[in-house]
Amino acid sequence: MAHKTEALFRDDAYLRTADAAVAAVNDRGGIILDRTIFYATSGGQPGDTGYLERADGSRIAIAATITGETKDEIIHVPAPQQPALAVDDKVKLAIDWERRHLLMRMHAACHLLTVVCPFPITGAAVSEDDSRVDFDIPDASFTREEVTASLMDLVRADHQIFTRLISDEELAANPGLVKSKNVRPPVGTGRIRLVCIGENGAVDSQPCGGTHVKSTGEIGEIHIGKIEKKGRENRRFRIRFGPMPAA
Ligand SMILES: [Zn+2]
Repeated sequence: MAHKTEALFRDDAYLRTADAAVAAVNDRGGIILDRTIFYATSGGQPGDTGYLERADGSRIAIAATITGETKDEIIHVPAPQQPALAVDDKVKLAIDWERRHLLMRMHAACHLLTVVCPFPITGAAVSEDDSRVDFDIPDASFTREEVTASLMDLVRADHQIFTRLISDEELAANPGLVKSKNVRPPVGTGRIRLVCIGENGAVDSQPCGGTHVKSTGEIGEIHIGKIEKKGRENRRFRIRFGPMPAA
């Protein structure tokens, strides 16, 4: 039976610690809690790492976080040779905040890239130091200098980033909200999470389950590292932190 983990990061991506109880330990040693701040790998964003601390102060290092039988079941994968946990054990959770915050900045930067390049997305992957978004682009005249300048205009404007829930019907009535060519947001639950940028989502709104910083200014300086040709009409944009290196 799949468990339903309360995903605290959905309402507050800035939680670094929390308390929880062990709901189950699966046959591969994966730990399922009643609630968690650990984001599970999905939508191109890697899962969190960190640790769980028992009442006696001993720690279980978490090497990865993944989803189980359903998207609502979040499994904390311990590093090798960690102390064992039992059902109902109370633990303190702590994520590797430095890494998560980099991922939140990068993930938000990927949203800005879809504003600057308003084309169908065919793939995306976020990491701490380099992220990529693939687009179907009929016109390949984009330069990394121009795209970087447009991205940094959005960063400097310091637009707010927030989430809002909409109904399946509202999504169906606004097909333009979905920018991904191949991945459809899950419908049928009655609620779809939109990530909005700018006042009333004026800069961008799109379905996303990931974690993001609360304003575009918090992304900080970024640049396009490379634009790679992946096909006649497909381009891969790489985003990196910091200023564009001198040519
Ligand atoms: Zn997102």
